[in-house]
Amino acid sequence: MATENHVGRFAPSPTGPLHFGSIVAATASYLFAKSQDGKWLLRIEDVDEGRTESGAISSIIETIAALGMEWDGEIVFQSRRKHLYRDALQAIHDFTYPCSCSRRDVTGIYSGKCRKGAAGEARSIRVRVEDEVLSFQDMIRGEQSQNLAKEAGDFVLFRADGYFSYQFAVVVDDHEQGVNQVVRGADLLDSTPRQIHLQRLLGYDTPIYAHLPLALNSQGEKLSKQNLAEPVDAGTEVLFDALEFLGQAPPIELREGSIQEFWKWAIQNWKIENIPKEDRYCR
Ligand code: GLU
Repeated sequence: MATENHVGRFAPSPTGPLHFGSIVAATASYLFAKSQDGKWLLRIEDVDEGRTESGAISSIIETIAALGMEWDGEIVFQSRRKHLYRDALQAIHDFTYPCSCSRRDVTGIYSGKCRKGAAGEARSIRVRVEDEVLSFQDMIRGEQSQNLAKEAGDFVLFRADGYFSYQFAVVVDDHEQGVNQVVRGADLLDSTPRQIHLQRLLGYDTPIYAHLPLALNSQGEKLSKQNLAEPVDAGTEVLFDALEFLGQAPPIELREGSIQEFWKWAIQNWKIENIPKEDRYCR
């Protein structure tokens, strides 16, 4: 029985149709929440409006619905939540500063040059980070540590092109939506300390984190739109393959069965301890 409200989410960026790696993240976050009788939210991360691909939003929503994943509440769109990001930015005003450096001026980790005042016209807003190690416990990968000053530097919350950054929007949204379990690909493992830093400045609780193995193509690259990962066919087969990828051992008959049977088995037999830590090739 649920002793507290578990709230998870799937938060795809609408830069293209869902590929196998996205289905792995959707499946794992769904099972994590549903096996604990929790809620599962769907949030379209279109904060970077220039990268939204026409048709991707409807294609993502249709695929999730066709795969039988039932989201709770309304679908949320980051592009419609700028007022929340603006208020949160105001709330941590004392920890941020305007920066006039252009992308070309900044190679590697930002030096903090504009901390004492922007030299020219401000282009973006950055948050100060500390020279100390920030650690957290990942449910799959164990203890993770990062020195934000040495490995990330003061990072951008509001971008020169007028959009809020992913790092900032995701923290505000997860808090605002009551998300307390973040299950996503390990490509975001090294963003997590930045997000925890923001949660602390904003006075938010830190959710539980579980970073999933990445699905690699035959060249050993993470599946992405850039390397032309194929859109998935929304049927039981892809769910089955995702579940197997996640180290679960579904009986083979499930692959040919109905989506309802699939979820029934998957929710009852979900074992987070069986999820592998290493990135893996997908079939
Ligand atoms: N929007 C991000 C992506 O599609 C995921 C963000 C997250 O889960 O925190 O890669």
